[in-house]
Amino acid sequence: MGARVELIPQLKDNYSFLIIDEQTRHAAVVDPAETGPVWARIEAEGLRLTHALLTHHHLDHVGGLSGLLARAPGLEVLSGDDPIEGVTRRLAHQEGFEIGATAGRALATPCHTRGHLSFLIDGALFCGDTLFVGGCGRFFEGDAAQMHAALNGVLAALPDETRVYCGHEYTLANLEFARRVDPHNLALRAKLDAAYALRRRGAPTIPSTLGEERAYNPFMRVMTPALRAATGEVAPVAVMAALRALKDRG
Ligand code: ZN
Ligand code: FE
Repeated sequence: MGARVELIPQLKDNYSFLIIDEQTRHAAVVDPAETGPVWARIEAEGLRLTHALLTHHHLDHVGGLSGLLARAPGLEVLSGDDPIEGVTRRLAHQEGFEIGATAGRALATPCHTRGHLSFLIDGALFCGDTLFVGGCGRFFEGDAAQMHAALNGVLAALPDETRVYCGHEYTLANLEFARRVDPHNLALRAKLDAAYALRRRGAPTIPSTLGEERAYNPFMRVMTPALRAATGEVAPVAVMAALRALKDRG
């Protein structure tokens, strides 16, 4: 039967997600920034909230946790090694867990924060602020070598059809930056047009797929001649560092 994913917009441009195991009607919430909209959905659908999956410690990903803990006693709270209050289980790279009858596993993707985890469940990847549609998170607690390992080692090993559910609606800004550094990429042009069409009618651009990201996300294309030329660097980690610096400068 598997799991279904529901997207819950939070704050200004954050996404939280519900992962619903169809067989048991157990649900997990990913990165709750706010309690209200998440709990409203749980009640409206008559679900049992059993897990919170936290990618990292920033407030826009955990701010709704204490309210959910009060409403769902016994909630299992899974994270990596980031400092977060209320965590009941800290997962290591490749460690498994279950939402009802659906199995998932954690992938260590540090850099944005030291303990940043991504979660893979039933072909869906919840990657927080590591991989965005068309971009990646800032290197707050790590370096370019770690982001390269996370994106182009750990996440790049997943199948093309993996659905990418990231933590923010940053797609248009990311793809506009990508166009500056990879101007002749036709997949990128097509994605940008599609993303503008979605945003014009207020629809989310999430999820994309890993196959798509490989085709247009500059941070997953650090080995290509185009991105080498754009940055004047050759080594993948140096290209990664240069791209991040360019993007941060705006
Ligand atoms: Zn963050
Ligand atoms: Fe964030």
